[in-house]
Amino acid sequence: MQLIFEKSIKGRRGFRIAKNDVKETAEFPEQYCRKKDLQLPEVSELDVVRHYTNLSKRNFCIDTNFCPLGSCTMKYNPKFTEKIAKLEGFLNLHPLLAQFGDGILAQGCLEVIYETEKLLCEITAMDAFTMLPLAGAHAEFTGIMLIAEYHKQQGKKRRFIIIPDSAHGTNPASAATADYDVIVMPTNRDGCMDFREFKHKLNDKVAAVMLTSPNTLGIFNPRIKEICDAAHKVGALMYYDGANLNAILGKCRPGDIGFDIVHLNLHKTFSSPHGGGGPGAGPLGVNEKLTKFLPVPRIEKQKNGNFALNYHKPASIGCIAPFYGNFGVILRSYAYLMLLGKSGLKRVSDYAVLNANYCRALLKKYFEISYDRICMHEFVLSANRQKKMGVSALDIAKFLIDKGFHPPTVYFPLIVQEAMMIEPSESESKQTLDSFVEAMQEAAKLAETEPQTLKDAPQTTPVRRLNETKAARELRLRWPG
Ligand SMILES: *Cc1c(COP(=O)(O)O)cnc(C)c1O
Repeated sequence: MQLIFEKSIKGRRGFRIAKNDVKETAEFPEQYCRKKDLQLPEVSELDVVRHYTNLSKRNFCIDTNFCPLGSCTMKYNPKFTEKIAKLEGFLNLHPLLAQFGDGILAQGCLEVIYETEKLLCEITAMDAFTMLPLAGAHAEFTGIMLIAEYHKQQGKKRRFIIIPDSAHGTNPASAATADYDVIVMPTNRDGCMDFREFKHKLNDKVAAVMLTSPNTLGIFNPRIKEICDAAHKVGALMYYDGANLNAILGKCRPGDIGFDIVHLNLHKTFSSPHGGGGPGAGPLGVNEKLTKFLPVPRIEKQKNGNFALNYHKPASIGCIAPFYGNFGVILRSYAYLMLLGKSGLKRVSDYAVLNANYCRALLKKYFEISYDRICMHEFVLSANRQKKMGVSALDIAKFLIDKGFHPPTVYFPLIVQEAMMIEPSESESKQTLDSFVEAMQEAAKLAETEPQTLKDAPQTTPVRRLNETKAARELRLRWPG
């Protein structure tokens, strides 16, 4: 079938199907044609509305409840950005329009992506960004491919990537998938990578050092600049996992510290609702060492002021995503950045850090805390003390559901036993934080007096405790009956 570009009757440009093709496509093979009327279920409109409304009430979401899910939580997601994403011109964009005729029909969209790239460069002190990666892990893998390409050009064989054991799990996974050997660095009693061990392991066979920052204990490494300098001395590159940039927004910039490459999670820090696997966007920023290797297409501003996609970049690692990434997510972030401005973005990190430390200070009497120091956007408690009374982190997590809270991330990071990783985020009020703290304190008291109540939770959900392994292995997506 051939698509022809033409001026339609109303004077608007549009597509039509070439006339000589219509006959061919209209002939449908006989054996696939239905012989009898289709038996559709007969239900009234009211029944349908009730069905979906009741389903939606079972959905536990940020619009109904507090969700302090460490690291992966949705941070500030104003409804304003949803409104922008729903504007018809953006919503009905056909992905091919940006490629067609120098992208002339998608100028507004290309400009949004181009401007977002520029803003992220300013926020992180990087020289260029690609908006293509569709998730944080996708950005990491892309970034490591850029690192590999860089060292190939330098003519050096480097097999290792150094990653602390407090990193997000996707870091070692991405490095291993890209065929590197991971050197895991232990964490010191201060919650940071052991610097002496790091210096010991660092040599000219190391391709890069990948730091989740703040690490998954919620701690920002004060020796981060020394780490960068030492890595650069042996020719290794520095990768900043900035999925949770709400910890440092407007306070410091990875590029100024010395990082060569950084990824952000727009679906966490820059306003896109996420959960259940998507959608996401993991823009990847690089300094001038890596710019020419960035994936194609690159969005470029032409002399006449128009924007176009450039696929002809000889040094590029190639395509990593269809079209130009997840446009709807990028658009929300652009609207978010415009809405908040410089001072608003600074307030994001002010509140994210204040809220986390407020909860940490109120809870540390009730739970063990392995790394007791000022945290950034999140902190990690341990249910070790409760475990001695027969109550686990999982029991506490399930109890919180009954209290109307999404559980924190549990059993991660792996270096903390019975870990409960809590991220209040910048968006929550003091009242919400107080009621969460109260529920946690109640759990700690019940562990001493009535542990069975915690073991019986949750009581208020349509299903009680799931066999999570079975649910993942034998997924049944259909409603019974
Ligand atoms: C969430 C997260 C990732 C992975 O991002 P995805 O979009 O889930 O692939 C990587 N690093 C950190 C620190 C994260 O919090």
